[in-house]
Amino acid sequence: MLIDIYTIILLFITGILFGFINRIIALKLPLKKREFACSCDKCNNKYKWYELIPLVSYILQKGECPYCKKHLSFVYQFLDILSGLLYALSYIIYGFSYEMLIMLILTNLSILIYISDFKYYIILDEPLIIYSLILLILKFIFFGFKTFLISVCSGLIIFIFMYIIRLIGNKLFNQESIGGGDIKLSMFFGFTLGVRLSIISLIIGSFLAFPYAVYYSISNTNKEIPFGPFLITGLFIVFVFMEPIRNILFILF
Ligand SMILES: [Zn+2]
Repeated sequence: MLIDIYTIILLFITGILFGFINRIIALKLPLKKREFACSCDKCNNKYKWYELIPLVSYILQKGECPYCKKHLSFVYQFLDILSGLLYALSYIIYGFSYEMLIMLILTNLSILIYISDFKYYIILDEPLIIYSLILLILKFIFFGFKTFLISVCSGLIIFIFMYIIRLIGNKLFNQESIGGGDIKLSMFFGFTLGVRLSIISLIIGSFLAFPYAVYYSISNTNKEIPFGPFLITGLFIVFVFMEPIRNILFILF
């Protein structure tokens, strides 16, 4: 497979731009505000377009708001770069293929969930529905109706499975065990990976969340823990390492 350096650079820049767009959606959509203008968290001044160029503006403004001079978080810039890197990697690993398109979807969804779940404790329905539809259409185009139907059923099975776990968890712990958003996200896992690999990715996601959950419940009075970012990272890991994981499953079962 021939890998073209210009395509890699183009995808890296596209990824950074999409990271930025996803960041705005994740920050603004939960507030149900009509205007999507970007403003400073601290002084509320609206930024001009040239103060918003991902990474470039941050460096030129030395990481400060140009109006109130307060320090701006580097986390969002990091997520922009991560988005760019994952876009470029999707092409380097898979070339132009179905897998590459899925990795782009996973990247977009991850950035959205990292921000909205950590900041507002929610997983947005709209992007999840849109990406689920795109994913199922891609399954139909690349693999035909049978695979499409199996994917839909797998999603529904995982949804019901997680719903039952939630009911049991709620009874056992006498409080909400798994958030509604996490259950809807798990359905997306089923669409993407099928039943068996979805369960593996949910287990990996839970393991990733465990240290954070322990630390968080000790240091915080708020009982809500954002599981979405860990779950989608688990999905990412299983998607990228699908072949070795399948081989291990084959040997074990
Ligand atoms: Zn400011």
